[in-house]
Amino acid sequence: MKAPAKSSGSSSPAVSTPAPSAAADPGRKPGEGEGFDFFSLLAEHEHEQVSAYYDPSTGYRGLIAIHSTVLGPALGGTRFWNYQSDRDALIDALRLARGMTYKAAVAGLNLGGGKGVIIGDNRTTRREALFRAHGRHVESLKGRYITAEDVGTSTADMEYIKAETNHVTGLIGRSGDPSPVTAFGVYRGIKACVRYRSGSDSLSGKAVALQGCGSVGYHLAKLLHAEGASITCTDIDPQRVKRVVEDSAAKAVPPDAIYDVRASIFAPCALGAVINDDTVQRLQVEIVAGAANNQLAEDRHGDLLERRGITYAPDYVINGGGLINVNAELHGWAPERARSKAGEIYDTLLRVFEIAREEGCPSYRAADRLAEQRVAAIAKVRRNFV
Ligand code: NAD
Repeated sequence: MKAPAKSSGSSSPAVSTPAPSAAADPGRKPGEGEGFDFFSLLAEHEHEQVSAYYDPSTGYRGLIAIHSTVLGPALGGTRFWNYQSDRDALIDALRLARGMTYKAAVAGLNLGGGKGVIIGDNRTTRREALFRAHGRHVESLKGRYITAEDVGTSTADMEYIKAETNHVTGLIGRSGDPSPVTAFGVYRGIKACVRYRSGSDSLSGKAVALQGCGSVGYHLAKLLHAEGASITCTDIDPQRVKRVVEDSAAKAVPPDAIYDVRASIFAPCALGAVINDDTVQRLQVEIVAGAANNQLAEDRHGDLLERRGITYAPDYVINGGGLINVNAELHGWAPERARSKAGEIYDTLLRVFEIAREEGCPSYRAADRLAEQRVAAIAKVRRNFV
């Protein structure tokens, strides 16, 4: 069974599909009996809405998934990718939008979770009309969704979107590079992990194995070094390694050797899926805490870390500084306020570890619980008409 590639027969290019209502046919489960599983996917991923928009003049094919607007407008970047099928694009949008709800919820932001995808070759040079079509799609949702950059898009693309809608962030000359704020949040998160394990959050004399000396890794290394931590770093780009070695007195190792470094903390700041069947056995650390997205190859690797007695800072909690920076742009916050908000990741992580202990579950599950608790609590408060 396949999800519909696109809607036909509509006079409007925007086809919005709010989540199914049981009232229409109380006996029928979502998606059942229709020959496709579109609403089953929405139900499975617990989505409020998916919007599909087709523009024949540019060939624009875009989806916007809105997972939740309980906390506020759904925010999430637009991914421009050559998906194998429309169904793959839809599933990616649903998965990523849901992740944004959780990330915003634990960061204490008044934002929901959403994601845009544009199906096509992101190397195209014919971008203005395409992104303006996407901007019109975003505008048609009247602020229920706010977009930003993601894989395959740039700040210049956001400017094209801006010509059609105000519901876009990450514009040229606005909040700027989020990496220093993200790095500060990760640094505070590492301190919380150390405090959780030892009662003191001092990093003086602690050994950190840093994977990735890019934008976040570089700033993180400086913060760690300033507090007296010793750093062993790696990157596939020797120039980036050199900067961290010189500016933060780090020692360098080849990329694959980073998993075998004996240290207090492993800080993944490069790629996803770095905690996998191979590496989870090799790590000789007490804590895994870094900026990379989707660090666990699969959930069970979070369980394996737990079983090995390694404290894991759930990725979407500790790397929330990037989203906090976007929120700062939306609300015109001063940089200091964004940094201070990112600093609260310290307390959030301690709360995550407390939930994990209370409920006897691994930290990655406890983070989900914290996010779900906040969304549920706010949904209750906002249930009446004011
Ligand atoms: P970046 O591209 O500036 O840095 C990533 C670095 O990782 C690069 O220097 C790259 O050469 C290196 N790298 C790639 N493959 C590697 C490998 N196999 N071994 C060692 N190093 C390798 O990216 P960034 O902005 O610093 O982000 C780092 C991670 O944090 C990414 O996963 C990103 O999604 C995530 N993140 C970033 C932010 C942010 O504000 N920039 C926010 C949230 C999450």
